Amino acid sequence: MAEAAFTPRVFSGIQPSGNLTLGNYLGALKRFANSQNEGVESIFCMVDLHAITVWQDPAKLRHATRELAAGFIASGLDPQKSILFNQSQVPEHTQMAWVFNCVARMGWMKRMTQFKDKAGKNAEQASLGLFGYPALMAADILVYHATHVPVGEDQKQHLELTQEIARKFNHDYGVAFFPETQPVIEGAATRVMSLRDGTKKMSKSDPSDMSRINLTDDADTIAKKIRKAKTDPEPLPSDAEGLEDRPEARNLVNIYAALSDRSVADVMREVGGKPFSEFKPMLADLAVDRIAPISDEMARLMKDVSEIDHILTDGAARARTIAQPILQQTYQIMGMVGAMP
Ligand code: ATP
Ligand code: MG
Repeated sequence: MAEAAFTPRVFSGIQPSGNLTLGNYLGALKRFANSQNEGVESIFCMVDLHAITVWQDPAKLRHATRELAAGFIASGLDPQKSILFNQSQVPEHTQMAWVFNCVARMGWMKRMTQFKDKAGKNAEQASLGLFGYPALMAADILVYHATHVPVGEDQKQHLELTQEIARKFNHDYGVAFFPETQPVIEGAATRVMSLRDGTKKMSKSDPSDMSRINLTDDADTIAKKIRKAKTDPEPLPSDAEGLEDRPEARNLVNIYAALSDRSVADVMREVGGKPFSEFKPMLADLAVDRIAPISDEMARLMKDVSEIDHILTDGAARARTIAQPILQQTYQIMGMVGAMP
């Protein structure tokens, strides 16, 4: 399929499933702002319907959705330049998801590692929605014919599934209707790890608050979490190769590189050989320096939630003008009769 037929369009989403973390910032938000500023049409979604695949307290979900919107804006997303909205306000996502539930195969879904990680040993008790999550994610993306999706490394498999769904739909109906969307996974921090366990991804839904840095943490909390971050007893190695078998050290260096917009090799020239007692305060200072303006701005925006709600409703209306005709054409291709409501 000729990809050139599709206008470049960026889509990505974040779940309002807890506090935004440094992982979300470096792996997603910071890079969303770059893509917006390069002038590509960009659509960003608070994916509340993904968040409810595990139970959410209604009051907390409401707060987290607004705070997430504040996090987007404070990270540099401009609601005039980009489209910002919450997923439940655009019903085309779930309508398209049903279509994709009928395209995706059980065998594909069963391979998804996020489901296995999140359901854990208790898969029989997980919601059907948690299992179907990647089909909704494919719908989020393809209902806009998005060509590029900036995400963290953990979402690579879901993007491959999205491509597989698009390919099967196009093949089954003999059309070149859905693009082969490309994941964009770039930079030093595509997978920020937990501060307590260098083999586990930093996540906003991790029960341990010490495992992550939240964008709403104050300077003392950030410094404390970095000071207590798990490390090994050796000083930092002299070059990047020396980090290979040291996941905790590598994670802290990657964070330092991403926060300062430098390469890991460049950072190693500065910090190689230093003990953690010297490196951790440097990292804490840098993290506070970069995060404090974002958390201050989030707090300021949260003082006026009606303005945030207005931004989301306006974004949803703009998103629908793109999604509705694409869903309508999808239905027509499939043979549904009659105009859409
Ligand atoms: P949850 O624990 O509820 O799944 P999360 O922290 O994984 O939350 P998501 O909303 O699932 O956040 O993901 C939002 C975006 O942030 C995705 O693009 C994802 O790849 C990215 N992301 C999440 N965690 C990290 C991380 N530790 N490092 C880099 N990117 C990340
Ligand atoms: Mg996640």
